[in-house]
Amino acid sequence: MNSASTDKLLSGECFCGAVKYQINGPLGDAKSCHCSRCRKAFSSQASASALVVPGTFNWTAGAENLTSYVGGHGFGFQFCKTCGSTLCTVYEGAVFQIMLGCINGDPDIEIGHHIYVGSKAGWEKIPDGVTQYKENKI
Ligand SMILES: [Zn+2]
Ligand SMILES: [Zn+2]
Repeated sequence: MNSASTDKLLSGECFCGAVKYQINGPLGDAKSCHCSRCRKAFSSQASASALVVPGTFNWTAGAENLTSYVGGHGFGFQFCKTCGSTLCTVYEGAVFQIMLGCINGDPDIEIGHHIYVGSKAGWEKIPDGVTQYKENKI
């Protein structure tokens, strides 16, 4: 299982293509979070994200088309204003996690663990054989 990707130039974009980015560095700690907050934030059963190395992430188009939602403790999300894709999470204004769904092609990383499975939706069936934590991975 890959827990860290190889060092290559990755790109990604939102659903409508207005916002594009590049990552010139490895991704790390790919995970899926099943908490009730991620369920609302991503309108889905879970989030899927990976850490980016600070300084390796750049918006290459449409940065002016981003809007943000910042919740408590300085953590937030950035979205395309046109299509609503959630592209990344931010902490105090800096990108620190990329949402895997908007990456183009194969980023050479696999979700290594599923967290907050203890608060997953009743309608979600977690596949057998994946690494699960009831709450956060310690
Ligand atoms: Zn868009
Ligand atoms: Zn979560």
